[in-house]
Amino acid sequence: MLEKLKEEIYEANMLLPKYDLVTFTWGNVSGFDDETGYFVIKPSGVEYDVLKPEDMVVVDLEGNKIEGKYNPSSDTPTHVELYKAFPTMKGIVHTHSAWATSWAQAGRSIPCYGTTHADYMYGEIPCVRCLTKEEIEGAYEKNTGLLIAECFKEKDPEAVPAVLCKNHGVFTWGKDGKEAVHNAVVVEEVAKMAARCEMINPQVEPAPQALQDKHYFRKHGENAYYGQK
Ligand code: 13P
Repeated sequence: MLEKLKEEIYEANMLLPKYDLVTFTWGNVSGFDDETGYFVIKPSGVEYDVLKPEDMVVVDLEGNKIEGKYNPSSDTPTHVELYKAFPTMKGIVHTHSAWATSWAQAGRSIPCYGTTHADYMYGEIPCVRCLTKEEIEGAYEKNTGLLIAECFKEKDPEAVPAVLCKNHGVFTWGKDGKEAVHNAVVVEEVAKMAARCEMINPQVEPAPQALQDKHYFRKHGENAYYGQK
């Protein structure tokens, strides 16, 4: 079942090593199917160089495996909570990409220091707190998703399609798996630039709001004019 989506999500997963976003098996991509209400996700711990489209696992929104010979990603319960919280998002990515994860380990949101960031994301990329001992020892992966959902109650997940989880790594999302990977590449590049920017000038301030607005809204919303019609 969902053969086309499995192919798509396999391709999206393979973009993670291609763009240097994962080492070994430190990441996963999933994609949601509106018709069935199921999603397709990478199997847990399977190396990218042996991964095949048919290895993708189909799961429901309770995290039950519907089809597949492998166990789904250990992060499946996080993906479940994110699909529930962000109904317009149909693709989710998790990585431990090094620059973004460095910000996550430092427990810092990434400020918008320039137009590369503002072109894609409106405002800082938030870093959510570390889970409590109880949250870690309980339903850890589900609690990770609930914490992210809580953080985005007051935010537009389309305008900020990424989050850092303190002491852990990155989640991004998009209208499909490929767009979610695209956003993961953007977060990593922006994280690298922001870290270097603070190294060069420790007193640096976020880019002026007018510049952030100009760059974000020339690419998003009804007055966007970037690119081709
Ligand atoms: P899985 O191989 O189970 O998807 O785990 C990858 C990972 O990055 C865990 O945080």
